[in-house]
Parts: sequence; structure tokens; C-alpha cells
Amino acid sequence: MKRRLLAMLVVLAGTMMPAMSRAQALLDFRSDHAFPETVVETAAERTYRHRLLSLAGQGLLDENPALLGRLRRLVDGLAAAARIEKPSVIRWEIHTCRHCGENASSMSGGRLLVGEEFVLEPALSDDELGYLLAHEMAHVLAEHTLEYASAARYFVDNGRNRRYEDIQNELDESLSVSLRMSEVYAQQELEADFIGFILGARAGLEPEAMLRMLKKVTDDGGAFATMHPRRDERIRRAGAMLQMGYRIQEITAAKARSGQSGQ
Ligand SMILES: [Zn+2]
Repeated sequence: MKRRLLAMLVVLAGTMMPAMSRAQALLDFRSDHAFPETVVETAAERTYRHRLLSLAGQGLLDENPALLGRLRRLVDGLAAAARIEKPSVIRWEIHTCRHCGENASSMSGGRLLVGEEFVLEPALSDDELGYLLAHEMAHVLAEHTLEYASAARYFVDNGRNRRYEDIQNELDESLSVSLRMSEVYAQQELEADFIGFILGARAGLEPEAMLRMLKKVTDDGGAFATMHPRRDERIRRAGAMLQMGYRIQEITAAKARSGQSGQ
């Protein structure tokens, strides 16, 4: 995956830039996972609905309509950018929860959940909040849950012959397996930053807001702290992408001025 990221950066920085005036896709997504998407989707839907029901029952779901409205507007703008990169139909859904121990998370199929305190305490601007959402949406576009479970087959006993649910249960319960997979996890985080940065710039978010968001938000990775890429490394990489972000913004603005459709 590292090699793929590097290749994308080289392509973006070089000869493909003029061709972006047609708003063509800049990213490629793999589709050679070990499990069918529907299996992961079904599990995600079940877990997400269960969580929402539980939160609603405790009066903790969507209790801040102003924040929810902000988030939904940002997701709409980013979803349009996402469709350029990956024309598949994703029904994005986002909710907030209060005092729920949640940072910001995404599940397969576009199911997002954001903890109110996590985004309100650092007083994120709309553009900063947008990049935070773009990172989560990038995990969905890149089908990271599917990729992670596919990779996990090589880290668990008899993994090649086990079902998705079985692998997922072991991942949920075994810290040692998760630790063995820390490289995959860290690389997915960096890839989500990269994809999210492109989505955000395409959606018209100020590129420097990505850096500010990374500096403001204290996401220590929770239970995955030892596997999380270092924050200074994420900030360094985001800084290296700034020029690309400005270029994407210029082209997007020029297209808007000329009244083109953006497709
Ligand atoms: Zn992430």
C-alpha cells in the first residue's frame, strides 16, 4: 500500500495535473478483497442500528440539531467530491452522540457517527470539521474494513479458511492479533488522510484547514494507541500535500467560474 500511495503522489505532482481540468478521478481503489462487500455491509448495518437504538434509548442521539445540520451539509459537499473519485452509490448517513465515548467513526456503506464533545471542544471551523469527516469518508471509499479483515487472514490461525464474522470476532477480542496488524492499521490511517485531503480540496475546503484540524484534534487512537501513526507524522505528510490541495482548489474554482458541470 505504501508503494501505491507513493505512486499516487508522483502522478498527482507531475504530468496528470493539467488533465485535472476535466475533474477526472485522481484515486484508484482496489476491489480484490477476500470477502464479498455484502457480508461486511450486513454486519455494519446490524452494529450501527443497534448502537443508534441504544443511544436513542438513553437520550444521547442527535441531541444537537445545529451541529447535526453542519455535519450533514459538509457530508453532502464531500459526497459530491467522492462521487468523482468513485461513482458507486453510497448512502451516507451521519449521526451525533453525546457523552458516548465516541470520537468520529465510520462503518462500511457510509455509516458515520460523531461524538459531540470530540468536535465541539476543539472548536473546529467548518473547513476543519470537513477534513475530519473527509478522513472518515475515505475509510469507507477505500473499503478499509474489508481490506483489514482480508489482511487479517494472514495473521490468525487457519485464516485462509475462516469466515468474515469469525475473523472479525477474533480481531475484536484478540489484542495480540491487532498488534500484529499494526502496520496495516497505521497505513490505513495515512491513506485515509491522503484520500480525505483530496476530497476536502475538491469540495472547496481550505487545504491548510487539514493541518489545523490535525493539530487541534487529540485523537490518541484509544484502544489502538500503540498502532496509531504518530500525529506529527500525519501533520508532516499533510504539509507535504498542501500544494496539491491548492492546485485542486484552483481548478475547482475555475470550473465553477466557467459554469462547467464539474464532471
Ligand atoms: Zn481513521
